Amino acid sequence: MQVVGIEQKFCTAGGTMGKRLIGQGVARGTVIGRAHLLAPSELDIRQYHIQRGDVLHEVARLNNAFSLVRAELEQLRADVADDAPPEVRAFLDLHRMILDDSLLCDAPRDLVRTRLINAEWALTIQLEEVCLQFEAIDDEYFRSRSQDVRQVVERVLRRLAGGRPSPMALAPKLEEGERLVLVAHDLAPADILHFRQDASNSLAGFITELGGPTSHTMILARSLGLPAIVGVGDARTAISEGDLVVVDSDAGQVIILPDEEALAEFRRRILVQGQARSELRKLRGRLSRTKDGIPIELCANIEMPEDVRDALDAGADGVGLFRTEFLFMNRDRLPSEDEQFESYARVARAMKGKPVVIRTLDIGADKVLNVSARQSLGLTHEGGDGQGPEPNPALGLRAIRYCLAYPELFLTQLRAILRASSQGTVRILVPMLAHVHEIEQALQFVARAKEQLKERRQKFDARAPVGGMIEVPAAALNLGPFIERLKFLSLGTNDLIQYALAIDRTDSAVAYLYEPLHPAVLQLIHLTIRTGSRAGLPVSVCGEMAGDLGSVELLLGMGLRRFSMNPAQLLSVKQRLFELDSKAAGRLAARVARLHDPQQIRAALERSRRSEGAAATRASGKRPAPARPASRRP
Ligand code: PEP
Ligand code: MG
Repeated sequence: MQVVGIEQKFCTAGGTMGKRLIGQGVARGTVIGRAHLLAPSELDIRQYHIQRGDVLHEVARLNNAFSLVRAELEQLRADVADDAPPEVRAFLDLHRMILDDSLLCDAPRDLVRTRLINAEWALTIQLEEVCLQFEAIDDEYFRSRSQDVRQVVERVLRRLAGGRPSPMALAPKLEEGERLVLVAHDLAPADILHFRQDASNSLAGFITELGGPTSHTMILARSLGLPAIVGVGDARTAISEGDLVVVDSDAGQVIILPDEEALAEFRRRILVQGQARSELRKLRGRLSRTKDGIPIELCANIEMPEDVRDALDAGADGVGLFRTEFLFMNRDRLPSEDEQFESYARVARAMKGKPVVIRTLDIGADKVLNVSARQSLGLTHEGGDGQGPEPNPALGLRAIRYCLAYPELFLTQLRAILRASSQGTVRILVPMLAHVHEIEQALQFVARAKEQLKERRQKFDARAPVGGMIEVPAAALNLGPFIERLKFLSLGTNDLIQYALAIDRTDSAVAYLYEPLHPAVLQLIHLTIRTGSRAGLPVSVCGEMAGDLGSVELLLGMGLRRFSMNPAQLLSVKQRLFELDSKAAGRLAARVARLHDPQQIRAALERSRRSEGAAATRASGKRPAPARPASRRP
């Protein structure tokens, strides 16, 4: 379990110290930069009473500040690059909506008049009032939106303060080759974009005190690829302006003022990471196969259409999982059929005939739609009895259950996916199936969507295969109906682990129980691969286990020939497969099947890696490098 926001000493191999903060790494990579602190306290909010005769003047100041921010947001929206992630516009629209809400723009004017206080004071009183209302809502998504309200108010306060200069203008002076690391309490996605334009190449990464898995900032940071650490509770106390900091996103750590030895160590690591990346890139064009020549399909998981660039860049054999729900999130209007078609077709065309597996909407649990988006289509579901929060969101109306409950939503998406099938090689993947009737209903919806397209005389590939995700233990234990009715299977190990071990994968309190190598999980995976393959159905793994170097040999040994993962992991897995012998992997899987303790299984996998490493180095005449332990969590 990761402890967030704890300050620790950082020890280098030589025993020297630095200060270390722990948070949650958002994107991959390590960077070194000069800290630039962005603190709301810099806004210097003055609070004082005014004379009745000054009311008009104060109200005018407020009106003016609101108008300036309105113009600022409009300008930011107009400046959004055509290829920017769509959520960027959605964030700006959300902030514009908040700005225009009467609770924020009208109520402070009344406070100025009735309480005779200055504009800044009135605005901050109202901010706290609105945030309290948000924070009392029993819905994590809503609660986290209070951050958006704060960010909008901060913009207005900056204008009231006379238009604070751009944070980049106040940034510390950089030496040749140095870059900035922004340290903030919270950052709005629009701010990140702003800073990127403002600072071009001088921005290396950022650290925020707030932030968690559902924050907009995290979503955007991932798609922009900036190394970042969020949830570093005391960052602005521990870090001073201009401090040299290391942002080690892979390890979720920030090292403050590293000494020469630590700095040299991180520079060496960055160099090694860079060299390893360029070595791996040489494998891009090579066909993926094992040492004994078994061809393996390596596909990429993507979240947004523009991620297809990363898939192509990694030389993926296809897109093995397009998580379409991200197109639906963080926006107030659901994407239309045409908009969805454009997104899916863009990916299908870019992959130039390579397969693209488009998963139907997996909304629910930790992936929620905006309330206004739901309302715009008359979607009323809030969870449970509809009166309050869902009792168990991960076990609630999610994925195929959601789609079957809202037929129009499902049909619209199916038509869009089918239309995109005329532009490339598209496969349809249905998540979270457990019951025969769910499979049958899903197939009936596909048939109905095809009929509708025929009536409209719109093109689609009538033979686009429909497959199912195996991510509920009940599905893995009752594969017959899946094999009879579907054309391919994809193992969603992230959820299979969650549901087999009865732990919420988003709950850090039970994260220590998240065990991909639990024998029960391995049996479910092995059963699915064996049964599906014997029946002649392609079976892939698209959960995080597929990209985990510690699990690759075991999955290969279980008979897996199709892996789909984050594009960043693909070339390392390809490299690993070149070293593996499928028959030896099969023997390893058989040995592991007799073990009942994940620790013993992990040790067996490590022993196998070590003996291969030793064999490889004997062959190359080098000294063996210590094997890296197989990771426990995806
Ligand atoms: C999974 O559950 O393994 C999976 C790939 O789907 P997601 O992570 O989107 O739930
Ligand atoms: Mg899943």
